[in-house]
Amino acid sequence: MEDLGARMSGMAGRRVAVLGGGWAGMAAAVELSDAGARVAVFEAAQTLGGRARAVVYRGTTLDNGAHILVGAYRETLAIMRKVGVDEARGLFARLPLELNFPGRFRLRAPRLPGPLHLAAALLGCSGLPWGERLGAVRFMRTLQSMRFTLDRDTTVAALLECHAQGTHARRYLWEPLCIAALNTRAQQASAQVFLNVLRDSLNGARSDSELILPRCDLSHLFPLPAADHVDARGGRVVTGCAVHAVREHGRGFEIEHTHGREPCDAVVCALPPYRVADTLAPLASMRSITRDIVMLEHEPITSVYLQFDAGASLPGAMVGLEDGHAQWAFDRGRLAGQHGLVCAVVSARGAHEALSHEQLAVHVEDELRARFPRLGTPRWRKVIAEKRATFSCRPDLGRPDQITPVAGLVLAGDYTASPYPGTLEAAVRSGVRCARLLSEGSHVHA
Ligand SMILES: Cc1cc2nc3c(=O)[nH]c(=O)nc-3n(C[C@H](O)[C@H](O)[C@H](O)COP(=O)(O)OP(=O)(O)OC[C@H]3O[C@@H](n4cnc5c(N)ncnc54)[C@H](O)[C@@H]3O)c2cc1C
Repeated sequence: MEDLGARMSGMAGRRVAVLGGGWAGMAAAVELSDAGARVAVFEAAQTLGGRARAVVYRGTTLDNGAHILVGAYRETLAIMRKVGVDEARGLFARLPLELNFPGRFRLRAPRLPGPLHLAAALLGCSGLPWGERLGAVRFMRTLQSMRFTLDRDTTVAALLECHAQGTHARRYLWEPLCIAALNTRAQQASAQVFLNVLRDSLNGARSDSELILPRCDLSHLFPLPAADHVDARGGRVVTGCAVHAVREHGRGFEIEHTHGREPCDAVVCALPPYRVADTLAPLASMRSITRDIVMLEHEPITSVYLQFDAGASLPGAMVGLEDGHAQWAFDRGRLAGQHGLVCAVVSARGAHEALSHEQLAVHVEDELRARFPRLGTPRWRKVIAEKRATFSCRPDLGRPDQITPVAGLVLAGDYTASPYPGTLEAAVRSGVRCARLLSEGSHVHA
């Protein structure tokens, strides 16, 4: 079947350069390899995965930041399955939706069909006064009747205000969900993108709202098996190879990279948004698009890893934190057998940006120990700061389409057009779409 698909594809035998080995680039590479293209992925770093990759510290494999996937990440889960990563292999845990701020708030989705499970979870949660639980259920009902579509985009804070969501519901439910999904605070975040996330996760089938928590490092969760998939189909994945420029060359392109220059027929540019303008600078017709990409604002995510004694643990795989800098803490012992290792996540802009790494680590350690005194004293701390973790997901943000004015050149990445915020699903979807655009021949030189 695959051979037939390849022969019929507009890409069979064509040389495609994929710039960037993050999740978007690797998704495009997998799909293009399956369509019979001769794929070459050029990744500047030594490790594949980009903003979702493994990091080794003191002999322990960490991630550059804890990532949560949800059941609604259909294309991500499908392409992970395609390269051999599924639940049966134990590479991720699939847990019912649960938001747990120990001792303060707990919401757990019961075994009911969706979206009934959500109404039951809201009504049955602990830590919200009755009036606020009913208010949250009414809010979801209203959103359903609006088909989760706003006439005009606004901020999440304004939306919550307009629908009279109470203090507790905001504090434990909507604002943590907003920051986790959009990496932008409710005061600035796009209400429409937030509603897209609620529609497809919380309002979908029960399985759509399930939390998918990696049990392996992020490079092994997709980028490395994806590279094996590409390799097995005759492609190349070259790490430690930065692309400096892309030029039009005859009916195709020339890629200038660390090791020299090479020609290709088509290009998937899957670089982070802040690298696109420089690399595509020789392509005059891309300038107005790259100017807009340069204007995107970014939000940080900082991960604070604390290695406690092996017997130390949190009361759940993922627990909510409040009143401090960190919003969530993950127990890597429960998830990945790394006993005593806790990863606390500080998302979006905030007061923590004024602190040094060491100061922030001490603050976060204090926050954790105030809530969970039995953790003890950590043996080491490691802070990993991603200053441009995602674009800032503001109302009415213009995001560039994957199609460009240059035939044969497509844009992949979490910042490109998508109903989703800067997430793995937005990245993978864009990569898959780029591969389709090229394979269908709708965007290649004839
Ligand atoms: C700490 C953190 C936590 C996050 N948490 C979540 C989460 O819980 N759930 C979720 O869904 N999303 C999360 N995200 C967002 C998610 O990681 C990103 O949306 C996604 O990884 C973006 O993938 P991408 O392929 O579009 O871009 P990137 O990952 O940025 O990929 C671009 C690649 O291009 C490479 N590159 C750069 N310059 C060059 C060059 N000149 N030549 C060649 N290669 C180059 C980079 O090294 C990189 O590998 C998180 C992000 C961070 C940073």
